[in-house]
Amino acid sequence: MLGPAESTRRGPTPVHNPAVPATAYTPERIAAGIAAGEFVNVYQPKVRLADGEVTGVETLVRWQHPTDGLVMPSQFIELAEEHGLIDPLTRTILVNALEQGKRWRLEGRELHVAVNISMESLSTLEFPDFVAAMVRAAGIPPHLLVLEVTESRLMKNPLAVLDVLTRMRLKHVGLSIDDFGTGHSSLAQLRDIPFDELKVDRRFVHQAHADSATRTILEASLGIARQLGMRSVAEGVELQSDWDLLRELGCDVAQGYFVARPMPAAAFTKWFGEWETRRQA
Ligand code: C2E
Ligand code: CA
Ligand code: CA
Ligand code: CA
Repeated sequence: MLGPAESTRRGPTPVHNPAVPATAYTPERIAAGIAAGEFVNVYQPKVRLADGEVTGVETLVRWQHPTDGLVMPSQFIELAEEHGLIDPLTRTILVNALEQGKRWRLEGRELHVAVNISMESLSTLEFPDFVAAMVRAAGIPPHLLVLEVTESRLMKNPLAVLDVLTRMRLKHVGLSIDDFGTGHSSLAQLRDIPFDELKVDRRFVHQAHADSATRTILEASLGIARQLGMRSVAEGVELQSDWDLLRELGCDVAQGYFVARPMPAAAFTKWFGEWETRRQA
């Protein structure tokens, strides 16, 4: 049975200090942190359910704060979005991720690298050219980059966003609709925007077998992905029972603590080797 070793599943313990209140972070401190290079990438594997092959990673941002330790995105992403700082932050994370993708490729690992993109960036008309230039500089095929866009934010500026996403698509960059099922967008957007991948939100994934309404939404989401020709990804896969149900329902890809926690690149490379060894055993 494919599944992670107990130690891998738990992963490294974040050193976040809960004594620091969220209000301690101000736009000024975030801007200074960006300038000082304190925002770093961690990587979480996306694994094919049918055979356990690692198809890609999602990169997630962490603030490696000099005194507070590891600060999670919930403490600063919204603030960054509200104060015009998310675009520079996204660019840093994107460039780091492409450099890492290039390193993996040189090691013979052709992984999709997914980056979370906020609405602010998607309403910026020069964003596609910036992304294309960075992809070219990294020398990786554009389809190996996947932009994850959260469904609930799609509605804010639909025309500009549609334009930017269409341009990304013309540049062969992959597009993923994130947190599917939690947004306010209509299904029509799935028709209008050419997504390659649909990520079912974790609230419809974890313990879906235990609740029939949850399972119904999960199955319907997987059905929409299949019928529209999109790859389906389930996030928040925490248990063997989550994994087993998703396999049974024909979901393509799983992501979650059951496989591995988000990790720095070096830990990811080590995890990857161990995972491959167990897969082939
Ligand atoms: P998301 O894009 O939905 O990312 C998935 C979140 O679920 C991550 O939280 C990840 O660590 C967590 N996760 C992964 N597996 C499991 C699991 O099995 N169970 C549970 N309960 N959680 C799991 P994280 O890293 O704290 O990020 C939270 C959110 O912050 C992300 O949600 C995303 O919306 C945003 N975010 C993270 N990094 C970036 C970034 O570089 N740019 C932007 N714009 N947003 C980011
Ligand atoms: Ca995401
Ligand atoms: Ca998500
Ligand atoms: Ca989510």
